[in-house]
Amino acid sequence: MQHHLPLITASRVRAFQRCPRYHHIRYNLGYRTTERAAPLAFGSLFHRALEAWWTAADGPRIEAALEQLDREVDSDPYDLARAQALIEGYDIRWSDAGLTPELVEATFELPLTNPQTGAASRTYRLAGKVDAIVRSGPQLWLLEHKTTSETITPGSAYWAKLRMDNQVSMYLNGAEALGRPVSGCIYDVIGKPTLRPYKATPPEVRKYKKDGSLYANQREEDETPEAYLSRLRWDISENPDRYYQRAEVVRIGDELQEFDWELWQTARAIRDAEIAARHPRNPNACFQWQRPCDYFDVCSGSASLDDVSRFVHETDPHPELQEEHQ
Ligand code: SF4
Repeated sequence: MQHHLPLITASRVRAFQRCPRYHHIRYNLGYRTTERAAPLAFGSLFHRALEAWWTAADGPRIEAALEQLDREVDSDPYDLARAQALIEGYDIRWSDAGLTPELVEATFELPLTNPQTGAASRTYRLAGKVDAIVRSGPQLWLLEHKTTSETITPGSAYWAKLRMDNQVSMYLNGAEALGRPVSGCIYDVIGKPTLRPYKATPPEVRKYKKDGSLYANQREEDETPEAYLSRLRWDISENPDRYYQRAEVVRIGDELQEFDWELWQTARAIRDAEIAARHPRNPNACFQWQRPCDYFDVCSGSASLDDVSRFVHETDPHPELQEEHQ
């Protein structure tokens, strides 16, 4: 087996599908931004709390998760409040769900195979990191955490889209490569709080009543992280279904084959772009997720990848496979 081959990961596939130029800068040239966008910073903060919850060896899991958050001293205090409220609600919702972790954050590598011939690619290998493999009675399941700002109630568009997620077929094979063949995947979906901390009303628009107090919808000071935490806890306890959903997805043969083809074709397209040294831009993706792409200023000509205050060059294009936390 050729273990030195470049790796294809689910993130790399998504990057190429999003924009070939983005993929080129990130994976071929190896540049990342020095700053992580706020939603990503919160996502990885919460992911670390979740990992601590799942790996807690003994004692209440919530304590391990909160201890992890206590160590995150450099994080934004409002992000910490959101992560705390969310992991506390997660603990209440799922600690008695009967799932026992067998593996947490395990990295796998396996051949990329041609779905027609079954032959292994001589150009790429597949790699990824499963969130967890859990036991439920006699069966093992892959458990994948997803955090999203979208509506996650059953029947929503989010679940329909998740059924097309080609990551899961790769991960089902990954579980087998880790010696834990699974019955399917449990998606553990967590809705990100959309409540924002209250901000002080700008002085120039403040209106006072006769008794000198401010009008009810105005405030003199920003909401404190503690008050924000209480408000989030209340909202989560009132609407748990909006924040926590799980569903089992069992892939049938045809679906798996379709995913294998999608993966193979995308890998070929990545290779073709590399050979042609052409990496088209996709302007429709520049403002995906309501924020500019990390490389927007580079593509639009107002910044350079050589600017070390903004971009860092990495020799390993897949640091998330090595890091303890994703
Ligand atoms: S700014 Fe737009 S064109 Fe450039 S890499 Fe990002 S998504 Fe692609």
